[in-house]
This record gives sequence, structure tokens and C-alpha cells, in this order.
Amino acid sequence: MPKKLKFETLAIQSTQKPNKTTGAVATPINLSTTFERETDGSYTSGYVYSRAENPNRQLLEDSLALLEKGAVGLAFSSGMAAITALFNAIKTKRHILLPDDVYYATKVMAEELFGKKGIQVSTVVMSDLKAVKKAIRKNTALVWLETPSNPQLNISDIAKIAKMAHKVGAICAVDNTWPSPVLQRPIEHGADVVMHSTSKYFGGHSDVLGGCLVLKKKGKLAATLKSIQTLTGGVPSPFECWLVTRGIKTLHVRVMQQTKNAMKLAKFLEKHPKIEKVNYPGLKSHPHYKVAKKQMTEGFGAMLSVQVKGDDQNAMKITGRLALFTTATSLGGVESLVEHRKSIEGPNSPTPDNLLRISVGLEHIDDLIADWEQALR
Ligand SMILES: *Cc1c(COP(=O)(O)O)cnc(C)c1O
Repeated sequence: MPKKLKFETLAIQSTQKPNKTTGAVATPINLSTTFERETDGSYTSGYVYSRAENPNRQLLEDSLALLEKGAVGLAFSSGMAAITALFNAIKTKRHILLPDDVYYATKVMAEELFGKKGIQVSTVVMSDLKAVKKAIRKNTALVWLETPSNPQLNISDIAKIAKMAHKVGAICAVDNTWPSPVLQRPIEHGADVVMHSTSKYFGGHSDVLGGCLVLKKKGKLAATLKSIQTLTGGVPSPFECWLVTRGIKTLHVRVMQQTKNAMKLAKFLEKHPKIEKVNYPGLKSHPHYKVAKKQMTEGFGAMLSVQVKGDDQNAMKITGRLALFTTATSLGGVESLVEHRKSIEGPNSPTPDNLLRISVGLEHIDDLIADWEQALR
């Protein structure tokens, strides 16, 4: 496929594979777990057994690699399975550096599963370059970024941190779930690995769980990860792959419109007297606005969080008054969601008590703003 095609075109083209025998335009779902072998021992189709590869996963993995400007795509059964696969590639006695406000399950998983097995895990304020420089060790093997971060929307400088990581021979990997490749392509800024929870914007309809890793280049790390993927078997089913590839077709139009809605909502909330603070990297008041503008080329995403005046009880009450924002965890679907983050993360969470996280959907923005107006009465 010509690589100079625009994102929207690539998204459609790369997920389209008309069936040779029937002519069906919509890609069929291949449920077969096993594939026929020839008498000479070869496999005409190239497929052997579904845990290793299957046609629906192949189509998805190739599309993911193309859209993230990488060389290799690997699909997993969830975002956490994708992260675990990468952490599994890190040798003992090496060090993993995480942002202090990383996705909560990533931190717990790293500390509980890897920290107890001889891998060093530490955290740093990833938006503070001086602190990052100090926190990188001689034995650092992986610097993990998540930008914008969850749930406080801090921005870390991918290009600068990737360079620092490379100096000690470490990999720089970016959890790119929130911006999606529509708005940010970390490999173009020097990252080696991009990770997604495809349960979010890629799927786009809150009805499929999935994850992926995209690698900048083929080679040893890609081969190791492919092997981990096949051996540990945390792979998505053909139907799940099919749902994510279908989501990819409309990814660009959804993310752009949801981003537009988020910017308008952020501006409205920033002026509201009952709001203490709005965390959205598209606002000029955001402390990392310039870095965000540099690496998020088409917009600032459809996620934001607000700190409402008053305590956690008051924040919870507001979620109850919102009619168009369903109170639920997760994000990236066509429907707007709101969540009191601290109470879901648990007592050790560093998230402020009065913070509400918002995933802005595709509803009309006037309706969404009016809903907040009445809820903040
Ligand atoms: C949801 C999410 C994950 C975890 O993905 P799952 O598909 O739920 O396993 C990781 N990182 C971020 C930023 C997420 O939003």
C-alpha cells in the first residue's frame, strides 16, 4: 500500500480485504483455529494455528503498524496483556521507569508482578525533564510514557525523553491510548514502541476489549515480542479483531469530532465559577500546552478532567445530576462518560478527591454543555 496515502484513506484501505471466493466486500470472520497442511509439510495459506496467527488478526496487526508508522504490529486480548508482554521482554536486574501518574493498573502490575521478580520499578514526574534525567539509571531498560496522562492530563516530551532513554540503551515506549494515532504518532518523535488499549478509541463503541504493541522496526525486540505473544497466548479472538478493524474505518472522523467537542466543553468549564481547575492540554492555561502542541499535531484529544469546588461527596453528586454523561469507567466510545477517579483507583491513589474524569462522546456539543450547566447549578 502506498505509504503516502492520508490517514483516512489508509484506515479504510488497510482494513479492507474482499473475499477471493465469494467477492464479499466486508471482510469475513475466519473462526477456524487450524489450517490445512500440504503433504510436503508446507502451509499454502501461511497460517498454521490461530494462537500464532490468523487472517483477522493479521489484517488488524498490519493496519495498526501502518497507522502508527511502525514496522510490526502485534494484537493482544487487552491493553494490559499488551503491556505485560512488553514488560515480560525485560530481563531481571534491569530497571523500568514509569510516570508517577501512569494508568493505575500499569503501575500495580509492574510493582506486583515484575517488582517482586527482580526487576527494579520506579516512578518519576515524567513532565519534568530534569527529574527524568536523574531518574534514568545505568541499568534502565525501559522508559514508559503515557501522554496525555491519566487522569491529570500531564504531557511528557516524547522526543526529548526518547533521546535520554537511548543514551543508556533503553527502549522508549508510549501508551498512546488517549490521543490515538489520529492526533499523535510517537514513533515519528523517536519512540521505539507504541502501545494501545484498542478497547478505547480503536474499538470506539465500548463493546470490545483489546490491546496492541507497534514496533518502530523489525529485529530482535520484535521477534522476542512475537514469541511472547504466541507462547503466552493473550491474543484476541477473530471476532474481536474484526470489531477493532471495523472501528479503525471510522477512527479518524470520530476522534476529530470528539476532540472538537472536548475543546468546547473544556473552554466552557474553565469559565464556570463552580469549577476549580480544568485539566486539558488544549487550553493555553495548561502548564504543558507548548509540548502538547508540538507532538499532538491535529488536536488535543477528547479526554479531560475537572476539579470541582468542594469535596469528593459534592463531586459524586454532580455525576449523579448529569443526564447525558453515563457514570462509568473507561473511555473512547461514542457515548460521553464521567467518572470519580479517586474512588475507583483506591485509597493509595494520588488523584485529587474532587477530580472528575470526562470522556467526551459524539453527542451534540450544545446538549453536552447544557447538561453540565444544569449539573453544576
Ligand atoms: C484502558 C487503558 C489501559 C488498559 O487497557 P485494557 O484494554 O483495559 O486492558 C491502559 N492504558 C490506558 C491509558 C488506558 O486508558
